[in-house]
Parts: sequence; structure tokens; C-alpha cells
Amino acid sequence: MKMKIDIDLILAILAKEVAGYKVPVVDLIAAQSNDPFQVLVATILSARTKDETTAGAAARLFKKAPDLQSLAGLSEEEIARLIYPVGFYRNKAGYLARLPEAVAAMGGVIPDEVETLTKLPGVGRKTANLVVSVAFHKPAICVDTHVHRIMNIWGYVQTKTPLETEMALRGKLPDKHWLTVNSILVAFGQGTCRPVSPHCDRCVIQQYCPQIGVTPRRVPGERRTAAMERPLKLLCWNVNGIRAVEKKGFTELVKDLDPDILAIQETKLQEDQLSDGLKNIEGYQSFWHCAVRKGYSGVAVYSRIPPVNVVYGINDPAFDNEGRVLTLEFADFFLINCYFPNAAEGLKRLDYKLAFNRSLLEYARGLAAEKSVVLCGDYNVAHQEIDLKNPKSNEKNAGFTPEERSWMDAFLAAGFVDTFRMFNNESGHYTWWSYRFNARSKDIGWRIDYFCVDEKSRHRVQGAAILKDVMGSDHCPVQLDFL
Ligand code: SF4
Repeated sequence: MKMKIDIDLILAILAKEVAGYKVPVVDLIAAQSNDPFQVLVATILSARTKDETTAGAAARLFKKAPDLQSLAGLSEEEIARLIYPVGFYRNKAGYLARLPEAVAAMGGVIPDEVETLTKLPGVGRKTANLVVSVAFHKPAICVDTHVHRIMNIWGYVQTKTPLETEMALRGKLPDKHWLTVNSILVAFGQGTCRPVSPHCDRCVIQQYCPQIGVTPRRVPGERRTAAMERPLKLLCWNVNGIRAVEKKGFTELVKDLDPDILAIQETKLQEDQLSDGLKNIEGYQSFWHCAVRKGYSGVAVYSRIPPVNVVYGINDPAFDNEGRVLTLEFADFFLINCYFPNAAEGLKRLDYKLAFNRSLLEYARGLAAEKSVVLCGDYNVAHQEIDLKNPKSNEKNAGFTPEERSWMDAFLAAGFVDTFRMFNNESGHYTWWSYRFNARSKDIGWRIDYFCVDEKSRHRVQGAAILKDVMGSDHCPVQLDFL
């Protein structure tokens, strides 16, 4: 059924609805300071950063540097210290350190035109539009990722990028909404129509929304029945040390991401070191398979659905003491959570890894003969050249050797499907970035985390995604929607 959106009506409903939500941080700073400099700086800080973090960083910075003159007196290092931990704080410190000189070259005042603002360091179109509308109250449409996403969910625009959305909105959105649409949809996107599992169940405009491309949040307690069949949301994430991620808000993140099943790798702890909070996340049962060696490897699964059986390892002592494989059996599928060995520097463990891979493949094939298999984890291999940024310079490195890639070929030829590639054959989609050389901010990454399913279960795959904006580890989670 195709619905036509009445934009005046739904923006009016949402304006009332979000009046009770938290005000986006940039609007808050605009209301408090009425100062284009502070609005511009807060907007730069807010990119890819939670509002609470932006608010804290802006408060610390403005205490020392409330205006351009005082900002010019701070070194880049000092700025970096003050704004930490906003996303990409080093880059942003560099932009802010250069800002006073750049504004001076433009006459000494913050410009009020989008095109001129975008010539300042660190100011893209979105930032410029936001500053023009929020700080100067001039007509501009800021297209935040929430605006872009939600306008497409409504079918009000059909666009691929925020810039295309901005241009489409300039052509059709009535002027009276230009200044307010961003604040309304950012608040609504953070509170209800969230990027992952939106709260359609409690949405005030549900009756008007065509929900294009949306997988609504599962309501707690709701059971899957044939009548309302909905895919399970499976997530897989190499957390690279669960205790470190716990300190960064892991349990809150799980609630936010709202998976039915979450498989994690590299837990790096013993079961007796688990906190209550980690072991018992509300609504989930958790299962842990730890390595004998302390602080090494280890996998775990959180599941909302009680499994009918749990298997620790693959019944091979050569591998099982490293805590690499955990299998949950459900009524109609097996979930194998696997942390594949790393071939390591100098390829010291390549033989071990290939032996493990062969055993694991035999194990998975055995299970697939019984029922569907979902095999997820950190495979520690980029399969094709499109799966990493710099294939040529990594040809002999762990994770991209011909031997590891051949095993992946053999694995797929043996009847398994790389679900992400069912939907996307482009390069530039990564799940791991080195902690060195600012690799994540430069997007120099590798796709080494996968959800694969046995060929016979291909029809059960409803969607696959990489959640690259989820921070906390050097890997990001990957998702499978599985019916
Ligand atoms: S119904 Fe769902 S998808 Fe539509 S606007 Fe509301 S929360 Fe977003």
C-alpha cells in the first residue's frame, strides 16, 4: 500500500511530540549563548558524537575559550585535551586551532552564508546549514543523518545521500519548515524513530508512515508466530575485550541495538571475572566459552530465545582450549559463534589457523546436514580485494594471504553463503580498522566479520548490514535479519 505523506500534518504532530524530548545540544547552546561562534564550534564538535559528550566538551572548551580571540590563544594539544572524548577529537582539535585565522581572513566575523561557511576548516554542508539556520535564523535546511533517513522512510524523498536530500527538500519542503525540520527530526530520530529498530510500536505518526525499508523493534515478550512472522535480528561483534567495552556502556548499547541474539568474540576474560551486569543483561540468557589462557580469545552469546542445547567447542582438544567456538541450537537452526585464529605476524600461526578452519568447516557441514546453520564471527580474513582498502600492499600479510583466501573460497564452495554479499557487491564496506594511523577516521579498513548461512537456508536471509557507526571496539558489529 502506498501512502502519501501530509508533511504539514506530521511535522505539526512531531513538533508537539518532541517538545517533551531532550533538546539537541546545538539548539541548546544556541538558545543559551545566542552566539554564532559557539554554535559553530558546538556543531563541529557534535559530528559523530553523542549529545551528552558534545555538551561536556563544549562546556570545558567555552570555559577557556568563549570566543575566537581566546580560542586563538590555545594550542591544538590543549584543545584536544579539552574536547576529548568527542569523536575524531584530534581532527576536530586541528580544525578548531585553525579556525581563528581562517575567520580573520574572511573579515573577522563568522559568515552567515552556507557557501562561505563551508570554506572554514572542518565545516561541511550540514554544519554550515545548521549554523545558518540555528545561529542566524536564515533560511537553510540542515540535513542531519536523521533527516535524510526519516524523509526516505516516509517516501517524502527518494535519495541516496544527505546532499541529495537537502536539494530535494529545497525543491518541495514548504519554507515554514526549513528552520525547524532538523531539530524536530533529530530529536525524533534519537528518541523514537531510531536508526536501529525504531519504536514503531509507540510512534505517534505510525498510522501515517509507510515504514519504507524499516525493521521495527520487537516488542518485549512478543513471540514469533506463523501469523506475524518477522525476522530475528542477529548481531555479531568482536568486542576486543568485554571489560573495556563494559566501561564504555556495553549493556546500554545492547538495549539500544535490541538484538534477539548477540554473538561476541574476543571477550578476553575468565568466567569468574564476569560482573553481574555483564552476565545478566535483562531479557537475555548469556553463554560463555573462555580460553584456558587468561585474558585471551573467548566467545559468548546473549540470547532472548532459550536454546534447546549449547555446545562448547568443536570437540577437538587441539582447538577447544582457546575458547573459539560456541554453538547454540534452536528449534530450527544452529548458531555457531566463532573467533577464527589470527595467522599472526610473520604468519607464525598460519598452519594452526588453516588446520582450525578445516576442522570448523567439517563441524559446520555436519550440523548443516541436520538443520539451518548460521555461522558468524571474526573470520580473520578479508576474502576479496573489495573487502579491504589496500589489497596490493597486504597480499602477504595475515588475514589476506592466498592460503587464507583460498580457504574462504573452499568454504563458500562447500555450500555456505556470505550474506552481506547477497545484498552488496561494492567495495568500501569494512568491519575492522587498525587502532594505528587513525585508520578508522580515514576508513582504511578490512571486512573480516561475517554472517554466513548454509546454502539451503539462503531464502531465510532477509537482510544483512554492517553497523559501522557503533563504536567501542576496533571492530564494528554486523547484522543478519534471519526468518
Ligand atoms: S512508524 Fe516507525 S518508521 Fe515510521 S516514523 Fe514512526 S518510528 Fe519511524
